[in-house]
This record gives sequence, C-alpha cells and structure tokens, in this order.
Amino acid sequence: MFENLTNKLEKIFSKLKEAPSLTEAQVDVGLKDIRTALLEADVALPVVKEFIKNIKSKAIGREIIKSTTPGQMIIKIVNDEIENVLGDKYEEINLKSQPPVSILVVGLQGSGKTTTTAKLAKFIEKNFKKKVLLVSLDTSRPAAQDQLKILADSIKISCLPIVKEQSPVEISKRAINSANLGGYDVIIFDSAGRTQIDLSMMSEIKQIKDVIKPTETILVADSLTGQVAVEVAKEFDSSLSLSSIILTRIDGDGRGGAALSMKFSTGKPIKFIGVGEKIDDIEIFHPERIAKRILGMGDIVSLVEKASKDLDDAKIKKTEDQLKQGIFTLDSYLTQLRQMKKMGGMEGVMSMLPGVTKIKKQMENSSIDESMLKENEAIILSMTKSERENPKMINGSRKKRIARGSGVEVSKINKLIKQFRMMSDMMKKMSDGKKIPSGIMPDEILNQLK
Ligand code: GDP
Ligand code: MG
Repeated sequence: MFENLTNKLEKIFSKLKEAPSLTEAQVDVGLKDIRTALLEADVALPVVKEFIKNIKSKAIGREIIKSTTPGQMIIKIVNDEIENVLGDKYEEINLKSQPPVSILVVGLQGSGKTTTTAKLAKFIEKNFKKKVLLVSLDTSRPAAQDQLKILADSIKISCLPIVKEQSPVEISKRAINSANLGGYDVIIFDSAGRTQIDLSMMSEIKQIKDVIKPTETILVADSLTGQVAVEVAKEFDSSLSLSSIILTRIDGDGRGGAALSMKFSTGKPIKFIGVGEKIDDIEIFHPERIAKRILGMGDIVSLVEKASKDLDDAKIKKTEDQLKQGIFTLDSYLTQLRQMKKMGGMEGVMSMLPGVTKIKKQMENSSIDESMLKENEAIILSMTKSERENPKMINGSRKKRIARGSGVEVSKINKLIKQFRMMSDMMKKMSDGKKIPSGIMPDEILNQLK
C-alpha cells in the first residue's frame, strides 16, 4: 500500500542524506519534493500543509546531533511527523464496561464489515481471553446473516441463531439477553451497510446504538477508496459519533492517502488494519511502526534516536562526575555556557542536573537573555587560566583588564563572578548530597541571569 510513497521518499532522502550540511534552500527543495510525494499518495491537502509546516519549523535552526548527518536528522523529523499524523500512539480497543460489552461495526456495503467483524472476534478471544458472541443485524440482504454464521462456525465462535423476519432492533435485544444468559463478555454487532450513506440507514443504526450502548462504534472503511474513505468517515462520525476506525485492504495497491489522512481529518484513531482476506489478516495499528514502514528508513530513525540518547548520557555522566568531585571552576562554567548556547538555553543544561525539574520549570517561564550567554563566554575567555581556576584572585585591576578584553563594563564582570559563586555553592550542596532548598536558589540565580 505504501510502496510508491516509500520509494519516492527514499529518493528524496538519498539526496539529503549524503550532504555534510544543509542550507535552508536545500531543506526547502526537499520539503517541496515531500509535499508532491504526499499529494501523489492521495493524502488530503490540509494534512499535507500541516505536515510540511511542522517539519519545516522543526528542521530549520535545529542543532544537528553529532554522529548523524543533517539529512538523517531530517529523516527523523519526517518520521516523527508521520507518526504524529497517524495518531500519537497505539490505542487499544475499548472493552471497559459491564459485560456483556457491545461493539458496533458500521460502514458502507463491501467495505469489509462482515469479514472484519469475524476477524475482530477471533482477535479479542485470543488476545483478551474473552468469550465473544457474533450478531448480524444485516437484514437487508438475504445471505448476509448466513455469511457471518458461516465465518463464525469456521473459527468456532458463537453466533446468535438467525430468526428470520426480526428487525435489527429486535435482534439486538435478543442478543443482549442471550449474552447475559450465556455468560458472554463481548458482543460484536455487524450492521447493514448501503452502497452509499442514506438517512434511513443512519436512523436505523442510531436506534440500535440506543439499545446496545456500545463502548466502540467502529467504522470499517476501505483504504483503496482513498479520500472517499475519509469523506465517508466524516459523515458517519457526524451522524453516529464514531469511536474508532478500521481500515481494510491495506494489502491492496492503494496509495495510502486514506491511512495518512484519517486521524487528522476525523480526529478518530485507526485501531486496526485489515491486511488480507483470511481471518488472521488483521493487525493492530501502531502509528510508529507504520511510520517506519512508510519511510522505509527504520534503521536511520533508530540510529538518530540512539545518537541523541548517547549524547545526552555522555553529557549527564560528565556533569555528574564533576559534581561528585565537587569541581566547579570558571572553565567548567564556560563549558556549561557553551552547552547552554548549543542546547538552546539554560533549560537544556538544567535538565541534565539531577533533581532540578522544578527549577527547570521556572527557567522555562523566565526569559533568560541569550546574549548574556555570549557575553559571559567572552568574559571568561578574556581571563587567564589561573583566574579561571581561582576567581578569588580577580581584583580591581584584573577586572578592568578583563572588561577591556571582552568589551563590557566592569559591572558585568562582577555580575558574572556573583553568578559563578552561586552556581558553585549550589553544585557543592548537590555534591554533598544535600537537597537544594527549594525556592531560595532559583529566584536568586534567575534574577542574576536575567
Ligand atoms: P461487507 O459488505 O462490508 O460486510 O464486506 P465483506 O466483509 O463481505 O467483504 C467484502 C470483500 O472484501 C470480501 O471478499 C472480503 O474477503 C474482502 N476483504 C475484507 N477485508 C479485506 C482486507 O483487509 N483485505 C482484502 N484483500 N480483502 C478484504
Ligand atoms: Mg456484510
């Protein structure tokens, strides 16, 4: 289903991947190609727009993590965005209610409802160890009820006996009684579909919903119909308030647009996908796995994830080691300032120190001037090695020299030394294993840094 899109993305990325650095213009060209590839895959325009916008804002000005090329970083960003569009994370089918729990399956005729109903029953019996009763409410076509019965028999799942001439609402009531008597945990109702949405179909399903009070109203939609499937989902949702979607025929040669647009356009999660005609051809919909499948670059994505983690780990360890030894000189302060600059501010560095989430929050809320970071860097660079190791020796005349060297007022030197002392006190307390008295350090340091 996603092969075409995957191939195109692979081509776009192979161009980006090798470059040692990327200009904004190169990123723009890449994004334009991605945009075209998505539109050609029949992804809805609003989805594509949002997608590109998000990638662009993440890609530009982002520090490229060591040991990966900028192209790889972009692949990771695109991957994250695909996951985002597909749904944040895997959402389990909702069986949380007093048994028997009712699940209602709706959709157009031929979308794969009856097959999916049977697939789902087997899936639930197997994975949740629940006793499932299957019920066909499709009285519109003579053979429809038999079709479900035959499928149910083939997988040894109970099916409510067929009583001809009963209406869907009557069948629903009978099903609930039988399920109570028979000790069933879950009832799955296969409703009638039409070739197109009509009012009588919707009102019939509404009546059924009132009777069975389902935990899930699942739309079965044929992914091969592309954007039509998305429109169908919107209409079903506005009349029936869907809880989730199952996309069928993902094994087919559709372009994937439906899968990529569904969550964004309807707000409803895709919970399963149908990947073939056989009963076991149903898969849980994992956005992150599908994203990697679409991108065809799972290895690079994991590489970037690992690289960022390793880098963080290394930084944390170094900081911790220094703290343990109680070492904090102006040189280490300089390193920290540089890290701060690289990591986009104070927040980044504070997040590496153990036990400072609270402070970090305050930091986020306060506006720390980035130019201060640069200025402080310049000041420390104008100091001699011994001054950096032993700031106490910095007297008036030294201060004047440093101020001249770094092009700032002497008062800035005083401020920096004060900041350094406070930081160093804090570090010592932490290395002694003492907790930082909450409220005291943060405000003082914050005011200094502003
Ligand atoms: P209904 O009218 O909505 O109940 O649709 P059916 O369940 O009768 O399915 C219609 C046809 O689609 C049948 O031939 C199914 O075998 C087929 N079908 C359903 N789901 C899938 C799927 O995920 N992949 C493929 N390839 N075929 C499917
Ligand atoms: Mg059917």
